[in-house]
Formats: sequence, structure tokens, C-alpha cells
Amino acid sequence: MSTTIIEPAAPAGTRRLLLSVPELSSHAGHFGPIPVISDGAAVLDAVTAAGLLGRGGAGFPAARKLAAVAAGRRAVVVANGAEGEPASSKDAVLLARAPHLVLDGLGIAADVVGARECHFYAPAAALDGIRRALDERRACGYDRRSVRLTASPESFLSGEKTAVINRIAGLPAVPGDQLVSTSQSGLRGRPTLVHNVETLAHLALITRYGPRWFRTAGTPDEPGTMLVTLSGTAATGVVEVPLGIPLLDLLTRHGRTDPRTVRAILVGGYHGTWIPAAALHRAALSTAALRPLHATPGAGVIRVLPRTECGLHASADILTYLAAQSARRCGPCRHGLPTLATTFTPLAHGHPADPREIARLATLVDGRGACAHPDATARLIRSTLDVFAHDVTRHLHGHCEVTDTTPGARS
Ligand code: SF4
Repeated sequence: MSTTIIEPAAPAGTRRLLLSVPELSSHAGHFGPIPVISDGAAVLDAVTAAGLLGRGGAGFPAARKLAAVAAGRRAVVVANGAEGEPASSKDAVLLARAPHLVLDGLGIAADVVGARECHFYAPAAALDGIRRALDERRACGYDRRSVRLTASPESFLSGEKTAVINRIAGLPAVPGDQLVSTSQSGLRGRPTLVHNVETLAHLALITRYGPRWFRTAGTPDEPGTMLVTLSGTAATGVVEVPLGIPLLDLLTRHGRTDPRTVRAILVGGYHGTWIPAAALHRAALSTAALRPLHATPGAGVIRVLPRTECGLHASADILTYLAAQSARRCGPCRHGLPTLATTFTPLAHGHPADPREIARLATLVDGRGACAHPDATARLIRSTLDVFAHDVTRHLHGHCEVTDTTPGARS
């Protein structure tokens, strides 16, 4: 994925605080000293008033997570920078450009929940920068907090909350059973707060500037800005935009792409949903605006499928990848997803296939795993069959709109 930063195209509603300053001297000059938290409840109130939603994909209210962990004893906090999603690079960019903002947020979260044990979990390449940033902070006395670093493996599910806790505990980074919330019993049975690194950066900003400032961007229900990874556009990379931005604006102003060249966009990454080009005019980057299209912003991944590419081919590639990414612990991942992939792929290549059987298999895996991997994969396939229904019909008759040839000849 591109780790380029796209400069916001217009000042209205945009700000670039998240990706602003990598060095500690400029960070401290820009943001001042790390806030001293003498009243964790006041910070919780501020985060509640700000309405910060987690930026790791699930969009859970950050204040509720903080409060749940703060209610326990001997809490642990984890900054989660594992970015298993192949179409996302916003966490990598954030950690490279603003490591101190994330570390500020980690320290603030630890103070709010009363945690003495802090962890940073991210790919090894990103941890090199975090290690340097921690050394810098200690050397000048900016922050002497000790943070334990754990490298996340390169796998799609390595950033799932229970996979994160498993890896830090020395186990494979695969999702575990969630009979009890990790807010109550996570790492070594202790209340554990796992926050995405972007969520922590927002927490650092809210603590400094307050909830009213945070709410100057975004929508009343989904305030603030969000880092978005754009791909398939003329300008690819990461951009900080206000939540609620119309997707057409995102594509044209920031992605510098003519919407007439777009076949569809995948919102939310590989676990996301296709939106056809014809629906773009009524879509915006918010849960509320995307709900009628059965999509969510997820972790801010927007992949554009140009008119020159086939949606069934793109989906088959993603499905094959996802089917290979499970820990194969649960039935839907051991049997269901591989069968779904081998049943769907012939359709993408113009070979005989049964779309009703594909839909049936997607229903069978739904809700049957220990984590949401099968459900989200099934959602992607349902969205594919829906948005590219016209292409399904053409493929079944041996044609593909993109090549206007017999697609079977290409495979
Ligand atoms: S549903 Fe799949 S990915 Fe999730 S825990 Fe079970 S085997 Fe692993």
C-alpha cells in the first residue's frame, strides 16, 4: 500500500493535526507538554462529550471502553498499530508521521484507567520508529513511562483485539474466544484496553483542545476527522478528512479522480461493502450515511474500482485471500470459506457456476465463527452478488463487460 500523504485539497473542514510533526522538538513546540492527568474522570467526561468513536474499524465509543477498563483493577493498556488490512496504510503513516501524538494518547489512556503496564503492538518496521521516539522522550524527560513493544505478524487478523492480546502473551496472533469482555479479563486475566493508534492520537488532541474543538469537524453523531486510505484513485495515499464528507468529494477533491471513470468503490476494506458508482451521490463517510447502503466507514479504507476492471475478478481475489487468512479453528473457516472461494472463483472467470449456491454458502458461514471473520467475508460476497448482479448474468453467459470477450478464455 502507498504510504504517501495526500494533502487535503481545501481548507474547509480539513485539518492536519494527526499527520503533522514527527520529531519530539516540533511535537512539543506544536502541542506543548504531555498533559498531566490528575482527574481521570474529567478526561472521561471530555471524551464522552467529544463523542470519539474508535478508529480501528468497529467504531465503538472510546469513552465506554475507557470507562469499562477503569472500573477494574490493575489494568493494562495496548496501543494497537497492527494493520492487517492490505488496502490500509493509515496506521503506518500515522506512526511514521506522529509517533509522539500516539504515545501521548497511550500515556493519557493509561492514566485514565489507572494502568501501570503499557504495550505497543505494531509491525516491526513501525516499532523501530516507536523505539526511537520512546528514547527521545526519556532522554529529555518529556515522558519517562515504560512501554513494552511487541511486533505484530503480517496477517489479516493480527490486529483483532483478542489476537493482539494472545500475541503479547506469547501465543500465536489469532483470535480467541470472547466469553468475557477483554475490558474485564484480557492480558493475564487483567482488564485490558486495546485502542487503535489513531484513536489514541485523537484522545491526545481531545485532552489538549477539548470536546468543542473536536466537534468543529465531522457530524453531530460522528464528530472529528478520520484518516482515510485511498487507493485506485489518481492520487493514492492517506488523507485526514472530516467524518461525513461526501464520498464524491473524497474521490474528486482528494483522490483527484473523475467519478465517470469509476465502476464501484469498496468501503471498509476487505471486510467491507461495494457501493456502485450510481449510488455515490448519496453516500458520505459516516455510519449513518452508509447504513442504507449496508456499509460502514470501518477503518477508513476506500478502494476505487475503475471501469476498466471487473468487480467479480476483484472480489474473487479478495475472497481467495480472506479464505487463506483464518486460523482454521472454527468450522466456517476450516471448511466454509475455502468452499465459498472455490465456488465463487469459477464465476469470476466465466466458468459454469451457481450464484444461488454461492449465496447459500455465504449464509451458512454467517455468525458461526468465534470471531467476525466469516460474517464479514460473507457480507462482502453478498454485496458483490448484489452490486455486480449485471456482471454475474453476463459471466454466466460467457461474457465480461470489461473485456467484452469470453472471460473463461482469460483464466
Ligand atoms: S472464525 Fe475463523 S478467524 Fe475467527 S477465530 Fe474462528 S477460525 Fe479464527
